[in-house]
Amino acid sequence: MKKGVEIISFDMDGTLIPKEFADHFWLEKLPELYSKKHGLSKEKASDILMEHYDEIGKNDVRWYQPEYWFSRYDLNEDPEEVLQEVRDHYDLYDDAKEAMKKLHKEYKLIVISNGIKMFIETGLGDHKKYFSSLYSSVSDFQMSNKKPSLYLKICRQLHVEPGKVVHIGDSLHNDYEPAVQAGLTSYLLDRNGKRSEISSGTEGVTDLLQIIDLF
Ligand SMILES: [Mg+2]
Repeated sequence: MKKGVEIISFDMDGTLIPKEFADHFWLEKLPELYSKKHGLSKEKASDILMEHYDEIGKNDVRWYQPEYWFSRYDLNEDPEEVLQEVRDHYDLYDDAKEAMKKLHKEYKLIVISNGIKMFIETGLGDHKKYFSSLYSSVSDFQMSNKKPSLYLKICRQLHVEPGKVVHIGDSLHNDYEPAVQAGLTSYLLDRNGKRSEISSGTEGVTDLLQIIDLF
């Protein structure tokens, strides 16, 4: 591993767990609960929710908060229990599980996600034990996306120089670019090996196990 690296940071959705985990909650489970509550077809409920999601928009932190939507729709279910039910259908990526098991012995591992804390914790399940800190841009910093300032704030909280942190994620705009701008080393995760950014100079990996041999 590269000299001086102390912390390895992972994005959550699409990096440690398939994006379908969060999508299932927002695009299937919530419309289902809404349709039951209001006696509508699931299709109709889904159309209504999509409109509401768009009205609030991804730049508003409420968009990410199940509590906001459950209270707005007067749903009695516990968002955490609903999320756990969804989690039972998904698992962390195999390479992610293997990489965290190996890497945690040598480095501090953290998560930096723009999903809320409940999604990170429920998503990791028993694997939470490998991480020393979990950061949600929305829950911890009221930021709806991951800007360079977020990465810098986290480094400051951890009392570590950005140059000693490596961040890996599957988004060029939320992971690679802002992390590099903040002075971290970053790798763009490209599991299909088809992303054009990587051939044009962006550092990438196709598998999280590759990280072990990179530094
Ligand atoms: Mg992601």
